[in-house]
Amino acid sequence: MLPQDENTELHSKLSHLKEVLGAITDMMPDRHFVVDEDGLILKRFGNIKVDQFYQMYEPNSVQELTTPENVKQTMIQIGECLATQNVVTFEVSSKLSDIQKVKPEVTGPTSTQWFEVRMMPLSFVIEQKKTLIVSIRNITESKAAEQQLQELVITDPLTQLYNRRYANEELTRCLQRFLRYKTPITIMMLDIDFFKMINDTYGHDAGDLVLVELSKFLQDNIRKSDTIARIGGEEFLLIMPDVALKYVKPFCQRLVSNIEKFHIPIAGGNLTLTMSGGLTEFTASDIDVETVLKRADLALYRSKNEGRNRITIT
Ligand code: GH3
Ligand code: MG
Ligand code: MG
Repeated sequence: MLPQDENTELHSKLSHLKEVLGAITDMMPDRHFVVDEDGLILKRFGNIKVDQFYQMYEPNSVQELTTPENVKQTMIQIGECLATQNVVTFEVSSKLSDIQKVKPEVTGPTSTQWFEVRMMPLSFVIEQKKTLIVSIRNITESKAAEQQLQELVITDPLTQLYNRRYANEELTRCLQRFLRYKTPITIMMLDIDFFKMINDTYGHDAGDLVLVELSKFLQDNIRKSDTIARIGGEEFLLIMPDVALKYVKPFCQRLVSNIEKFHIPIAGGNLTLTMSGGLTEFTASDIDVETVLKRADLALYRSKNEGRNRITIT
């Protein structure tokens, strides 16, 4: 037994420590749980008002916190955290409506929510079970901002098509796939014929409108698996994965001849235009994306030299 005043002092220290811990956890945009190795929640900390998802909600186990498909991953991470005695961090997404125990009034919209989960092992054992701290932060807003930024980075602002950066990334992925699995990839570089004349005749704004309308046309007339990107002022790249050139050649020819028939409404009437294309496919000797692009560009150059409104194959 401790003497009375030592006991009081210890109590006071403990209560201060508890208050400080409570204040810290309440200030943080996370919910913290003391969890055992089976996912049972032994203690909850944190400002429950901060995160609407957990508002008025007192879960008893990790299983109640997330969707059934995330539970498996979470339990693996708990095992990993306890085995390595290291901090484990991961992100999960879940539809609130898929989480059984969330009260309908706090779920809000059924949109997907993103959570960052951090786990830290604790040294003590409760009822023969190892324990850890699990912290959960709703990162949906920052995730959405991140995705928006990512989209901006790969989107051409005028036409909303993918931009050159994305085309290069996609080609690099295709090339890696081709080198590994020998899956064929065909690409076509497309360039508007005499576009300068359109600008000179109708003005730059009309030129912009033509680019926008043509982009929609291209997007609507390619196959679902294809990617179209604006890689220059009036230059586009069509990436056709998983298809050899000989099989896609008729489609490419049809596309270019359909462009000629496409009427673009501009102030003062309808405008038609033509495009020239350079078609090529990945070959075993292609060591980088630039080599393939250069070959398509040379084929395009030949289409231009030979009268435009045509495709050249190389
Ligand atoms: P060719 O058949 O040889 O391709 O002739 P062209 O006139 O299409 O080619 P050229 O390279 O001489 O001219 C391309 C023009 O595209 C020049 C440039 O002002 C215009 N251009 C590039 N980007 C844009 C854009 O974003 N908006 C508009 N309106 N015009 C653009
Ligand atoms: Mg041109
Ligand atoms: Mg050009």
